[in-house]
Parts: sequence; structure tokens; C-alpha cells
Amino acid sequence: MTFSEADLLARVPDKLFIGGAWVPSTSGRSIDVYDPSTGLVIKTIADASVEDGIRAVDAAAEVQASWGSTAPRVRGEILRGAFDLLQERADEFALLMTLEMGKPLAEARGEVTYGGEFLRWFGEEAVRISGRYGVNPEGSGRMIVTHLPVGPSFLITPWNFPLAMATRKIAPAIAAGCTAIVKPAELTPLTTLYFARLLEEAGLPAGVLNVITTSTSGEVSAPIIADKRLRKLSFTGSTPVGRTLLKQASENVLRTSMELGGNAPFVVFDDADLDKAVDGAMLAKFRNIGQACTAANRFIVHESVADEFAARITARVNELTIGRGTDDGVAIGPLINDGAVDKADALVQDAIARGATLLTGGSRVDGGGSFYQPTVLSGIVPGSDILREEIFGPVVTIVSFTDEAEAVALANDTEYGLVSYVFTRDLARGQRLIESLATGMMGLNVGVVSNAAAPFGGVKQSGIGREGGSEGIHEYLETKYVLTPDPFGGR
Ligand code: NAD
Repeated sequence: MTFSEADLLARVPDKLFIGGAWVPSTSGRSIDVYDPSTGLVIKTIADASVEDGIRAVDAAAEVQASWGSTAPRVRGEILRGAFDLLQERADEFALLMTLEMGKPLAEARGEVTYGGEFLRWFGEEAVRISGRYGVNPEGSGRMIVTHLPVGPSFLITPWNFPLAMATRKIAPAIAAGCTAIVKPAELTPLTTLYFARLLEEAGLPAGVLNVITTSTSGEVSAPIIADKRLRKLSFTGSTPVGRTLLKQASENVLRTSMELGGNAPFVVFDDADLDKAVDGAMLAKFRNIGQACTAANRFIVHESVADEFAARITARVNELTIGRGTDDGVAIGPLINDGAVDKADALVQDAIARGATLLTGGSRVDGGGSFYQPTVLSGIVPGSDILREEIFGPVVTIVSFTDEAEAVALANDTEYGLVSYVFTRDLARGQRLIESLATGMMGLNVGVVSNAAAPFGGVKQSGIGREGGSEGIHEYLETKYVLTPDPFGGR
């Protein structure tokens, strides 16, 4: 890299982005952003007030009509230009994410690739928004179906994938012709601010995207959601916050997309290729230090291979290097903050107290930063909190089963339904599980499913709607139906 951490941080805007201008907050307050590997402040940025939030809605509403009628090709080319700029600055965005969120640099580079693909994909989709035209069944009229931008959209993102969670919403909104206000998580706002500057350089007109950063999310968001000019709320984050936002959105009858929590089962059958299952498990569990909505939360392993699987996973886990994400060879960076360490540890200790066997790890790492040891627990007792809650940390939990029906029952025993992973060589069994596991996505003999070209999303309390794929742009489009008379006058 040809730049220092200090140079990069100095280039990141520290103000709000409203109506194409970088403006100070009217609150007079600021937000300190921390490096979770050291606990030190790396940058101080503006802390938006309620008034700033409404100003952002003003800006988005003002240009909605002009942006919505901008040629799709122009919207697509701006996204493509942003994709190209992001490739040039991949190292900068990767380092910025590692600094504010903690993930190892190699994973941050992977997120630049993944997050960037939404720009390319939706740049291509912008020119493929099509409708249909047909004769009505009676023959007395012609039916036209077309798709129009929903309107000003409020996009709220979490801290765990600072770039990809933003581009997964911003790119389809821009492609569809919607203006937007984005509110990144207060723990990792820098990537979104730096990305907004990149979009500005890519030629995005003033007011199309506005960024507000705030430490008082609830207070600032509620009036935005209640504003009659807003037409869409897209949220990625925890299920409890999603429920609150759905209630608020009901008052204004907003279109909503909800990408919420997960509790993914990872099911390994006795006929599975165990080498592949272990490789998949390492990815599904330790990507992002276990802090992914798609993270495997419960390993459900056939009793005949459970000990072997646990032994192999433990051996792999013992090879993982813990450290600051910028250091070479580090696989396990810090968790996002000390609260996350406390939560993971409480779940581990509860499981052990109820009778689980600790195979490795099981405690926080002393010294600066919010580190937790990668951990493997087997023989988890039913009813343990760790099987019900999102762990959001580097902890493998193994339970065993005897037959397929029991595996399905265990896997579905959760309020969540985001993703499941299944490892088996039996094609018919794999096909049965596609239909019997209640999740919006499935990895069949693979440990990672995310792709900009695929519809990402969950069922049950994991959410509503899909991001990515050809479905993703429709989250930002309304369907309009038009009837015209038979042009032949009913011949
Ligand atoms: P969170 O729910 O605490 O916060 C998410 C965002 O909502 C943040 O920007 C936060 O500032 C904001 N927020 C919090 N309270 C709010 C309120 N009352 N009004 C408006 N905004 C509010 O979640 P988090 O800790 O940032 O992220 C982790 C969670 O996100 C996990 O549950 C994870 O599974 C989920 N997640 C889901 C997906 C998915 O695609 N399904 C992807 C990534 C993360």
C-alpha cells in the first residue's frame, strides 16, 4: 500500500452529506469512531440532529422527480463508473473497513469485491426494467404493466459489512431511480462517508444520495420514517430493531425491506464429504469473526461423524492466528466492541454450565482490544441460550442427531430463517432438504452463498424482501397497471 492509515483517515469526510454538500451537524455533538483492535479513537465525525435528518429528506424529495426521469442508461453508467473507481481504491476501502470494524485485511478486500459487484450488477439492471403489454381476457382492452421508482428511500445499515450492506441498498435504489438517505451504523460510519464521496466523483447528482451519521438513531430516524414524502424503508440489522421499525413504518404505510438476524443451521450427514464439510464450516463460521447474519450458529452433525467432525474443526481452529486485522496472517480480528465479547462469553459459559464440552478456546483475550478466542463446544444441551440466540462471535457449537427427520426438526427449531447449510452426497436427500428447511437461502455442500446476482434474504423473523439478483431492483420499484380500450373499437 502506498498510503498510511493516517493519510487515509484524513481523507474520509467528517461531515454530513446533504443535497450534494458536506455540511456540519446542527446538534453541536460529535461521534468518536474506534478501532476495536486497540480501543483507540481513529476519527471524530458529525452527529446528526433530528433537524439534519429532515434536511436530508428535503434534499432527497427535491430531486426525486428529476432523478426518477433520468435515463436508465445514465443511472447505470454512474454505477459502473463508481464500480471502476472502487476497483482503483480497493486497498483504501479495505483498510478503512479493517480499521473501523476489525476484520482481517484479506477479508476486507473480499468485501470490496463483493460490495463492488452490487454496483456493477445494478448498473446493468438499470436498463432492464421492463413491463408487459397484453390483451385482456375479454378482448375489450389492452393491459399495460410498468414499473416506476418507489420514491425517496431511507436506508439503514449495520456495522458488520460496512461497504457491502451499503452498496446492496444504494445501488438498486439509484438504478431504479430512487433518491435516498442512508444512515450507517454509528460504530462503522467511515466507509459509507468515503463511499458517498466516491459516488460524488462518479457523477451522482446532488441530493440523490444523502448520508446522515448519528449516535441517536431512534430519535433521528423516527421523524424521517414518519415524513409523508418518504416512500420506502430498507433496513439491515437485528430482528428487535426491525420489529420496531416495521411498527413505525406502518403509520406511513411504507414499502419495507427487512434483512434481519439469523441462526443458521449447518447440517452434516454421515454420507457427507467430511473434508468439504470442514472447509465449508470454517468459512461459514469464521468469516467476519463469526459476525455475519449468515454465520453458521448451530452445527447439527450425524452422531456417527460428530466426534470426527469436532476433532477436525478443533485442529483447524487451533491453527487460527488472533490479532489486529492489518497484521499478516491474522484470521481472527477483534469483535466489534467489549459488549460483543461479553455477550459471546456469556453464551459460552451458559452452555458449559448446562453440560457442553469445551474443546478449545472459551475465554476473552486479555490486553487491549475486544478479542475473543475462537472456541469449539460439543454436546450442547437442548435449551441452552447459545442454540437460540445469534452468537455473533467465533464460537462453534455442535449437537448430534440420529436421523434426517430429527436433523430437520433441530434445524427448523428457531424463530429465524435466513440461511441453512447442508452437507450430503445423497442428491435426493439434498433435494428434500431444499423443501423442508425453512430458510430463504441454502448452501448445499458450500459454506458461503452471498452473490450480487442472487436474491439474498430470509423467511420467518429473518426478514421481508430480497436484495441482489433480478429481484433486488424490484424492492425500489412500484408496479403500475394501465388499462386502455381495444384500439379496434370492439370489432
Ligand atoms: P442493530 O439492529 O443494532 O443496528 C442496525 C442499524 O440500525 C444501525 O445503523 C443502528 O444504528 C440502527 N438502529 C438501531 N436502533 C434504531 C432505531 N430505533 N431506529 C432506527 N435505527 C436504529 O444491528 P447491528 O448490531 O448493527 O447489526 C447486527 C445485526 O444485523 C445482526 O442481528 C445481524 O444478523 C443483522 N444483519 C442481517 C443481515 C441480513 O442481510 N439479513 C446482514 C447483516 C447483519
